[in-house]
Amino acid sequence: MKFDILTLFPEMFTNILNESIIGRAVKNKIVEFSFTNIRDFSGNKHNRVDDYPYGGGQGMVMMPQCIYGAYNSVAEKYENKPHTVYLSPKGAVFTQDKAKELAKKKNIVLLCGHYEGVDQRIIDEIVDEEISIGDYVLTGGEIPAMVVIDAVCRMLDGVLSCEESFSDESHYSGLLEYPQYTRPPEFLGKKVPEILISGDHKKIEKWRFEKSLEETKLRRPDMYEKFIEKMS
Ligand code: SAM
Repeated sequence: MKFDILTLFPEMFTNILNESIIGRAVKNKIVEFSFTNIRDFSGNKHNRVDDYPYGGGQGMVMMPQCIYGAYNSVAEKYENKPHTVYLSPKGAVFTQDKAKELAKKKNIVLLCGHYEGVDQRIIDEIVDEEISIGDYVLTGGEIPAMVVIDAVCRMLDGVLSCEESFSDESHYSGLLEYPQYTRPPEFLGKKVPEILISGDHKKIEKWRFEKSLEETKLRRPDMYEKFIEKMS
């Protein structure tokens, strides 16, 4: 899978994409990243990429021409239009289901905005969907892009090892994960639930499922209702 990222700050991505699980996926050629600096397409001698909003108001808006130039330099490498996502607080809130859906695509273009956002005409022209990472506003689309990349990459075949498997993690099946324990068996007087050291895998599975239900009902009644509805 390939991500093409259109951004004013490509250096922000360096660490996160070279380290740990995502770094390993890059080395194993499961995922590839390419960065296009929108400023390289400003087309003016001062390298300006933003201007005042028509109609007045606070802040600056990213101009459409530079984004269009950056986008075209990427899109021309593909036979079909690449699926293009604009990271935006106005978008649909990102979920595990959306991560699973995006993981099926061969290539995705991520457009990172800045300042007050981008000119609406570029959204209308190139963007297939807008994704928000939550109901709050950040200074730029780079961190949201990294969130999407990380969540999508974990869904790709071969990225996680068996021990790191995602299928019983929170959100994958609509429930939150059961509580996890590791060594030592006793810590500050608190013991690991006996069932987990019983070696009875059937009973452990049942206990974990019940704990998942319990945690979800307590912490996320909205998810619990949905899950029960789906099961009935
Ligand atoms: N004026 C915009 C509004 O009120 O909707 C907010 C612009 S924000 C300061 C600048 C950029 O950060 C956006 O263009 C977007 O790319 C990114 N951004 C900020 N919050 C985000 C969020 N919750 N999810 C995804 N992207 C976000």
